[in-house]
Amino acid sequence: MQVAQIYTDNDYRNFNYLIACEETGEALAVDPLAADLCLAEAERRGWTITKFVNTHEHLDHTGGNARMREATGATLYAHAGAGASIEGIDVALKAGDSIRVGRTVELEALDTPGHTMSHVCLLAHADQPSLFSGDTLFNAGAGNCHNGGHPKELYQTFRTIIAKLSDDVTVYPGHDYLEHNLGFTLDREPSNVRAQSLLEEVRGRDPHQAVPTSLGLERAINVFLRLDQPEVMARLLDGEAGPATGLDEEAVFLALRDLRNVW
Ligand SMILES: [Zn+2]
Repeated sequence: MQVAQIYTDNDYRNFNYLIACEETGEALAVDPLAADLCLAEAERRGWTITKFVNTHEHLDHTGGNARMREATGATLYAHAGAGASIEGIDVALKAGDSIRVGRTVELEALDTPGHTMSHVCLLAHADQPSLFSGDTLFNAGAGNCHNGGHPKELYQTFRTIIAKLSDDVTVYPGHDYLEHNLGFTLDREPSNVRAQSLLEEVRGRDPHQAVPTSLGLERAINVFLRLDQPEVMARLLDGEAGPATGLDEEAVFLALRDLRNVW
């Protein structure tokens, strides 16, 4: 499996992806908003885009669909629940469905509601296991829930799906928010030295040169995956947010999501 991460250089800081089979050169485009950048990258690498997928229905993920279709005639995959909001879906995805790319790549669709209720993440079972996480899991953060989602559903997705993935899974999110999100982790957990050192490393970095994280690293630097940390809980109990008692992991997650909305 080969992956090209394409930074779109727009206000939303979207990442688009091409996932290719190295034997056949066939490629899948993920959320190709910048369709022409994706087409140029495919041409540069000698790949042919035969399929494309939307992780969810937001326009900054689907806005390149018409151009991609026109240029390639590729097959469009998206969540089975997104039929009313994404035009022209060819293959509706349910949990456990797979998308094959060429001979060597197989991506499993994970049903991951929360950011929206019709969101898929794609898990590549490959030499390097990888998660294309859309707007569910970001580097050092979690998707917001105020455009069709629900924070309790997002928590369940983190608890039942993200939590079960192994540390060696590479994380490819839908946006470049790493630097900003590290600031939020450190606001909640000032003593997190891995987050501090990573922030030093990536501050001002050109997103075209972004290096993906692993889930193991996320578990060290992403406060939404650190719900049981005493410092995180203690700061919520300081009174500026969240419940004063009963800090179970769901309550911590929901309080963090609320705080992040206004941070
Ligand atoms: Zn979105």
